[in-house]
Amino acid sequence: MSNVIGVFPGSQRESMRLQEAIRRNCMCPPESIDPVCSAHDLLRDVNVMAHLIFVYRRRQNYVRVEHSGKVR
Ligand SMILES: [Zn+2]
Repeated sequence: MSNVIGVFPGSQRESMRLQEAIRRNCMCPPESIDPVCSAHDLLRDVNVMAHLIFVYRRRQNYVRVEHSGKVR
């Protein structure tokens, strides 16, 4: 993933989903060379990326259990 400082801590699919989310929420000026909006700013911190991936995966597990009909 471009603009991430460090190694992106997720899968290729997660990277694509994040890029799409950033694109939808980008508020950078059209001619900006250096992305400066808050959406792009998230990409500057690998720890934030790791936390987002962690929460995304946890959420997927809850959704999977909810739709499987198995209640513990
Ligand atoms: Zn932006």
